[in-house]
Amino acid sequence: MSKTKIKTQTKWNIKGIENWGWKKHPLGATIPEAGNAADYKTGGWRSNRPIWDEEKCTNCLICWINCPDSSIRVKDEKWDSFDYDHCKGCGICANVCPTKAITMVEEGGEK
Ligand code: SF4
Ligand code: SF4
Repeated sequence: MSKTKIKTQTKWNIKGIENWGWKKHPLGATIPEAGNAADYKTGGWRSNRPIWDEEKCTNCLICWINCPDSSIRVKDEKWDSFDYDHCKGCGICANVCPTKAITMVEEGGEK
């Protein structure tokens, strides 16, 4: 976890923006240092959630190697859990799973 304090601005004052020159535009997002992706809980964007079926899983870990957000945890060389704080619900893991052990469900609709 990085130690950089993250400054957020939730409200922009854009009154008269059509007359602004480039110097008046506030800075957008800044990445102060590398390796800070874990600080942002990007799982909040997710509209579909992957669900894992232990019965069907063969622990091949194809899902783990294909997840673009490193959101599949492995323990003792076996599938362990999803990191829902960072999983964006892209569905790649469900698509690549050869045994259909992962299915995507609408966020909030899981049992
Ligand atoms: S790809 Fe499917 S079978 Fe392989 S570890 Fe992932 S969930 Fe299990
Ligand atoms: S849905 Fe996408 S981001 Fe989430 S665990 Fe599967 S591959 Fe990773």
